[in-house]
Amino acid sequence: MTEPRSIAILGATGSIGRNTLDVIQRNSEHYRVTALTANRDIEGMLQLCHLHRPDWAVMADERAAASLARQLREELPQTRVLSGTEGLCRVVADPEVDTVMAAIVGAAGLLPTLEAARHGKRILLANKEALVMSGALFMQQVAAGGATLLPVDSEHNALFQGMPDAYLPGSGRPEGVTRIMLTASGGPFRTTALEKLSNMTPEQACAHPNWNMGRKISVDSATMMNKGLEVIEACWLYSMPEHEVQVIIHPQSVVHSMVQYLDGSVLAQLGNPDMRTPIAHCLAWPQRIDAGVAPLDMFAVARLDFEAPDLRRFPCLRLAQEAWRSGGASAAILNAANEVAVQAFLEGRLAFTGIPGVIEATLEKLIPGEADAIEGILEDDRRAREHAATLVTQHDARRMYS
Ligand code: NAD
Ligand code: MG
Repeated sequence: MTEPRSIAILGATGSIGRNTLDVIQRNSEHYRVTALTANRDIEGMLQLCHLHRPDWAVMADERAAASLARQLREELPQTRVLSGTEGLCRVVADPEVDTVMAAIVGAAGLLPTLEAARHGKRILLANKEALVMSGALFMQQVAAGGATLLPVDSEHNALFQGMPDAYLPGSGRPEGVTRIMLTASGGPFRTTALEKLSNMTPEQACAHPNWNMGRKISVDSATMMNKGLEVIEACWLYSMPEHEVQVIIHPQSVVHSMVQYLDGSVLAQLGNPDMRTPIAHCLAWPQRIDAGVAPLDMFAVARLDFEAPDLRRFPCLRLAQEAWRSGGASAAILNAANEVAVQAFLEGRLAFTGIPGVIEATLEKLIPGEADAIEGILEDDRRAREHAATLVTQHDARRMYS
C-alpha cells in the first residue's frame, strides 16, 4: 500500500465502527479517517473526533448535529458538521473518500450505502439490512457505479476468502462452487427449554456466548433472524440459489463459514470470533494487516461441533428463507417488521417469542411490491413498519404469540 486510503465510517460509534477505528489506529500509516458518522451519540462522536480529527462529522439526528457543531467550533474548527441522510450521502460521495465502511444498523443505512455504490467507492459492507432490503437494486448500482463490494459480515467474509482466485462478490456465480455452508453459533438460547423462551429478557438475549455486538444484531442472533438475513445476503453477494446455502449450527464460532466445490473440496476460514479479522481483511484487501486479534489456539478450541438448526426453535430463519423465495419486496417487509419487533422487545413491549409472530403476521397481511426501484422499496418498508407497530400495540403480544 502506498497512498493512504481515505475512509468514511458510517456508524462510527457502534460496535463495528469502533472495531474499524481500532484496526485503523494499529495501521495508521495506511489510512486516513475523512468522515465519521453517528445517529445521536454526541459524547461518543466528540471523543472519536478528538482522536481521529476527521474533515467531516455527520449526525443523522438534526439536534444532535447542532449540538456537536457548537462544541466542535471551538475545539476542532477544521471538522465540519453535517446532518441527516443528506449529510451522510454528501460525505460518502465526496471525491476525497475512496473507502466507505457501511456500519449503520438497519434500514437507516440503505440510502448512504446505495450512494457509495453509485459513486464507485470501495464499500466495506457490514450493514446487511441494506442488501436484504434492496439486493437487486444494490447489486445493479455496484456494477453500474464500478464499486468494489467487500463483505465485512464474518460469514460472508469467510466465504469471500474461500472463493476462487480473483473472484469478487457481485460478479456472478463462482465457478466450481456447489454449496455455501453458512455457520451460526445458535445464539444464547440454543439449548434453552422451548417453554422458557417467552420469558427471556433483552439482557439475556444480548448476552451472546461468543460475539460482542450491537443490541439489534444480538437479538437477531438469538432469534436466528440474523442467519436468515445472512442467507439472503449470501444469495445476493455470490449469486447462489437459496437451496444451495446450507445453515449449520456451530456453537464454537471458530469456523466462520465454508465453500464447497465440485471436486469435493471444502474450504473453510477459521479464526477467533473477533470482528477485527474480517474488518482488517476488507480494509487491506488484497493485502493483509495486523488486526490485533490473538492467534487461534487449536488445542484450546479442542473440538468443533456441527448440528442442523431446529426451525421450531428458530422460526425467524424459516420466515427469512420463505421471504427470499417469495421475491420482490418480501425481504424488505421481513426486515422492516423485524426491526420494529426487535425494538419493541428491547423496550419491553413484546415478548421474545412475539418477534416471529409480528413478522409472520405482517408478511401475511401485506402484498409485496417490486423491489427494482428505491421508492417502491421504501414504501413497502414504511407499510411494514406501520403494520408491525400496530400489531405490537394492539395486542397483548406476550400472550398472543408465545
Ligand atoms: P451498533 O448498534 O453497535 O451501532 C450502530 C451504528 O449506527 C451507531 O454508530 C449508530 O449511531 C448508527 N445509527 C443507528 N441508527 C442510525 C440512524 N437512524 N441513522 C444513522 N446512523 C444510525 O450496531 P453494530 O453491531 O455495529 O452493527 C452495525 C451493522 O453491522 C448492522 O447492520 C449489523 O447487522 C452489522 N454487523 C455487525 C456485527 C457485529 O459484530 N457487531 C457483525 C456482522 C454484521
Ligand atoms: Mg454474521
